[in-house]
Amino acid sequence: HARTHIFLPHLVASMVTGEQVEETYIMIKPDGVQRGLVGEIISRFEKKGFKLTGLKLFQCPQELAEVHYEELKSKSFFPKLIGYITSGPVVCMAWEGVGVVASARKLIGSTNPLDAAPGTIRGDFAVQTGRNVVHGSDSPENGKREIGLWFKEGEVIQWTPAIAPWLKE
Ligand code: ADP
Repeated sequence: HARTHIFLPHLVASMVTGEQVEETYIMIKPDGVQRGLVGEIISRFEKKGFKLTGLKLFQCPQELAEVHYEELKSKSFFPKLIGYITSGPVVCMAWEGVGVVASARKLIGSTNPLDAAPGTIRGDFAVQTGRNVVHGSDSPENGKREIGLWFKEGEVIQWTPAIAPWLKE
């Protein structure tokens, strides 16, 4: 009596290590755009090996800023935060890759830039929590939620980079 064994090593490995293909919402905040850090910041995610699936320059309306940061509504800094995020254009990005949510948070560094390690974006380019240059989703669920908030249908593109086999076995 024949039995079918289906063994998918990549799937098993990803379940063990938590290395799932995920998507995250990364945003260069108005200070990052004003300071000319757009290319530098995009470059760090590109060089790491993640896949850009969405990208636009955008002036955030107040209502969207409030929904994006709704978890922080009760904080005393909330009005300042909304003022900051809507103070000028932002660069909205969707990035995809294995473990991209946590990895992007590492590349970005701690919320308070004075605590952020050198080599991280905030560690290298910022000094104040209220001007910390970049946003990154804190969970895969929020990655999906935020990409849905900031991008319209058709603005996120599924594509296969020619170098894909050189980044992931
Ligand atoms: P992160 O952006 O690192 O995920 P949070 O979700 O805690 O951090 O906060 C969201 C954003 O709100 C921060 O990136 C920062 O711009 C702002 N923020 C957080 N705490 C403060 C604070 N104490 N004063 C001013 N702005 C703050």
